[in-house]
Amino acid sequence: MQSGQGAKKVKKEPVKVREQDASGRSSSFDEVVLGYNEEEALSEAARCIQCKNPTCISGCPVNIDIKRFIYHITKKDYKSAYLAIREKNDFPSICGRVCPAEYQCRKACVFTKKGSPYATENAINIHFLERFIGDYGMKNNIAIPVQKNPELSKFKVAIVGSGPAGVCCAGELARRGIKVTVYEALHKPGGVLRYGIPPFRLPRDILDFELNILKKLGVEIVPNYIIGKVKGLEELLSEGFDAVFLGLGAGVPTFLGIKGENLCNIYSANEFLTRVNLMSAYKFPEYHTPVNIGKSIIVIGGGNTAMDAARAALRLQKMQGFKPDTSIVYRRTEVELPARRLEIQHAKEEGVKFRFLVQPEGFTGNDKGFVKKLKCLECKLGEPDSSGRRRPIAIPGSDFEMESDMAVIAIGLLANQVLTRVTPKLKTDKYSDVEVNKETMETSIGNVYAGGDIVGGEGTVIEAMGMAKKAAEAIIKRLLSK
Ligand code: FAD
Ligand code: SF4
Repeated sequence: MQSGQGAKKVKKEPVKVREQDASGRSSSFDEVVLGYNEEEALSEAARCIQCKNPTCISGCPVNIDIKRFIYHITKKDYKSAYLAIREKNDFPSICGRVCPAEYQCRKACVFTKKGSPYATENAINIHFLERFIGDYGMKNNIAIPVQKNPELSKFKVAIVGSGPAGVCCAGELARRGIKVTVYEALHKPGGVLRYGIPPFRLPRDILDFELNILKKLGVEIVPNYIIGKVKGLEELLSEGFDAVFLGLGAGVPTFLGIKGENLCNIYSANEFLTRVNLMSAYKFPEYHTPVNIGKSIIVIGGGNTAMDAARAALRLQKMQGFKPDTSIVYRRTEVELPARRLEIQHAKEEGVKFRFLVQPEGFTGNDKGFVKKLKCLECKLGEPDSSGRRRPIAIPGSDFEMESDMAVIAIGLLANQVLTRVTPKLKTDKYSDVEVNKETMETSIGNVYAGGDIVGGEGTVIEAMGMAKKAAEAIIKRLLSK
C-alpha cells in the first residue's frame, strides 16, 4: 500500500453525494441520499492518502480498518472491502447511512481542520464509501465467514431488545455456534432503527435484509414479548439460558414540565415517530394509525430526534395538502445543535424553519383542549455549562407567542425501565441506566450483560454495537471456560 502522511494537501474536492431534489423529496418518505455510484466511489476513495498512521480508525467506535477497505475500493476489489468492514461492523449499509461520521471517523481523518464543528468538509467521505460497499455486499449476497465452534453449540443465550445492541450481540454469538433467542417488546424488531429513524433516512428493506441474515444464522426473534412483564430476568436464567444480554435502549421521553404540556396534539417525539415509522401513519389509510397533523407545527429540541420529527411532520403536512409550516425551536444557536450536520442541512433545504435562542414557557389551547400557541422567551448565550456548551439565558420581558396547533417535544430520552424496576438485584445508576463492568459489560447479576443506550444513556448506533461486541466476546470467553 502506498503511504502519504505528511502530504496533507487534498488532491481533489470531495465527491458530492447524489440526493433527491429538495422540493420533490419532502412530499414522500423515499430515501433522500442516493449514495455514490461506482465511478463516484472510486473517485472519492482515490482522495485517501493511505496514511502511515491512519487516525480515522481510532475515530471509529468499532475500529473498522478504514484505510484497508478504502484501499480495496481503489483496486476495485469490492468483495475484500466488504469483508474488511464486516470484520468489525455487522451492518455497513445501516451505519453508512446513519453514523454521525463527522463526530467519529471523519473527525479523526487527517483532512479535518481541528477545532471547528464544521471542519470535516474536506475529510474523506468514509460513511458514503462504507454505504457503497455495504450495498454492494447486499446486492451481491456476499457470504460472511461463519466460524462455528462445536464447543459452543450446547449453549443458549437470551437477548432482551432487538435494537442495534441486541441484534449485534445476537449475530456475534450465533456466528460462533451459540443458540440465540431475541425477545422484543414491540411487534417488529429493530429498535430505534425501526420506530425512530424514518425511512427517508433508512429504508426498511435494508434493515430487513440485515435482520434476515440473523435469521439465516438461526437466531430466533420473538416479538411482542416484554421481559419484566411476560417473564422475569431470573426466570430466563433458571429456564436454561446460560447468559442474558440486555439491549433495552433509552426509549422513555423527557418533557419540559411547562404549563399546557398535556394539551391535545402535543406529542413526545417517540410517540410521534413510532406512530409514523413503526405504525406507518404516513401510509394512512392503507395502514390504520393516523396522526393529527396541524397547520403550524413546532418541534422543540435540537438533536437527531428533533430533526427526524420535524422532517417527518413537514412531509405529512405536504402529503395531507397543508402549506408546510414546521419550525424547530432551540434554546441555543445553530453551532450548539447536537444533530448531525447533514440532517440539519437536509431539514433546512426541505423548508423546516429554525428559531434559535428561544425558550418555551408554556402552551395555551382552545376550549376543546387542543394546543393553539406556544409562549416563549428570547435567550442569549452565557458561560459554558457542564456539557461544555454555552448556557442559554432567558431574557426577562422578551415574551412572544408562536402559532402551534401541533407540537412535538424532542428534548431527550431516558432508560427503558420496565425490566430494571422489577429486578432489584440489577444495579442501576442515578439515571436508571444499568451499571456494568466496562471491560466485560457484565452487570451486577452474574451471566447477565448489558450494552447500548441502557448503559450510559443515549448514544449512537455504532457505539451500541461496539458495546454489544465487547459483551459477546466476554460471554463467549465465559462459556468456553465452563
Ligand atoms: P434501541 O434501539 O432503543 O433498542 C432497544 C429495544 O429494546 C427496543 O426495540 C425496545 O422495544 C426493546 N425493549 C426494551 N425493553 C424491553 C423489554 N423489557 N423486553 C423486551 N424488549 C425490550 N444514532 C446514530 O448513530 N445515528 C442517527 O442518525 C441516529 N438517529 C436517531 C434518531 C432518533 C429518532 C433516535 C431516538 C435515536 C437516534 N440515534 C441515532 C441513536 C441510536 O438510534 C441509539 O443510540 C441506538 O438505537 C441504541 O441502540 P440500543 O440497541 O441500545 O437501543
Ligand atoms: Fe488517512 Fe483520512 Fe484515508 Fe484515514 S481516511 S487513511 S485518516 S486520509
